[in-house]
Amino acid sequence: MSELRWNPLLREWIITAVHRQDRPVLQDCPFCAGTEGVPEGVGAVAVPNRYPALTHPPPRPYIGGSSSQQVEPSDGSCEVLVYTSSHDTALAYLPLESVQDIIRLWRERFLDLERRPHVKYVLIFENRGKDVGVTLSHPHGQLYAFPFTPPLMRMELESLLVHSHSGGTCLLCEMVELELAEGGRVIATEGSLLAYVPFWARWPYEVQIVPERHLSALDEMKEDESLALASLLRRVLQKYDNLVDDEMPYVMVLHQRPVDGGKYSYYHFHIEIYPMRRSRTELKYLAGCELGAGVFLNDSHPEERADELRRVAPD
Ligand SMILES: [Zn+2]
Ligand SMILES: [Zn+2]
Ligand SMILES: [Zn+2]
Repeated sequence: MSELRWNPLLREWIITAVHRQDRPVLQDCPFCAGTEGVPEGVGAVAVPNRYPALTHPPPRPYIGGSSSQQVEPSDGSCEVLVYTSSHDTALAYLPLESVQDIIRLWRERFLDLERRPHVKYVLIFENRGKDVGVTLSHPHGQLYAFPFTPPLMRMELESLLVHSHSGGTCLLCEMVELELAEGGRVIATEGSLLAYVPFWARWPYEVQIVPERHLSALDEMKEDESLALASLLRRVLQKYDNLVDDEMPYVMVLHQRPVDGGKYSYYHFHIEIYPMRRSRTELKYLAGCELGAGVFLNDSHPEERADELRRVAPD
């Protein structure tokens, strides 16, 4: 049993997903060829998450709500995006065509779920490394189809809208232009896409990958842009590993327009990557300031971190 519970103080939903506690520790990898994973020689595939936090139709909520304690069914779906049939590799080291295939899968799943009325937002992400709680090392990402637009995207949408209403164009378009002009925080470019450490990076080695052309989701991306994205993504992720001489643990998230039927052509698609380390060996923990107040302490200048990342060669 699971449900959504509304926090009126922060105006956000939390998902109770109690059954996820029963997740077994698996002996054999379920995503290797021959099981539920990708057959040998086939590209990336989406499989249902066996312990989903959101399901359609949703289970009956554990508790009845009221006007002051709002409860909604946990409607939606969770998928595992298995990148490849090979176990001992990572997105960064897959051939370019395989990364293109992963992007094709992202686009396909986004478009399929966009057609379903109960889905309002499609979150595509990857958690990499034990430090981020990953239990299966087989290269994979995940997808959550939410019955609401999550707060970070809501905030970005609002900022973009306010900015355009107050005489600006698109905040992200302007940011890209500024980063290109200044150059100090750009770590790599490929075609019309660029990767930079944001001016206001929360994580020391945080990187945003943004297309120069204004587009709200992957489905508007042209073939050459998606090829450039595949190549840039590999380079950035390889740089991370080479920087720490290890597998850099990270969270990577696609920020795309909501799919709730609204008009969001003002949104600007981008990818955000949060590496969990603040140096070669030390993890960055979220503590009092971050968790208790929502204020991130970054113990470095984004310009210096960008410089390090720019210098370190990809494979
Ligand atoms: Zn495997
Ligand atoms: Zn834009
Ligand atoms: Zn974003």
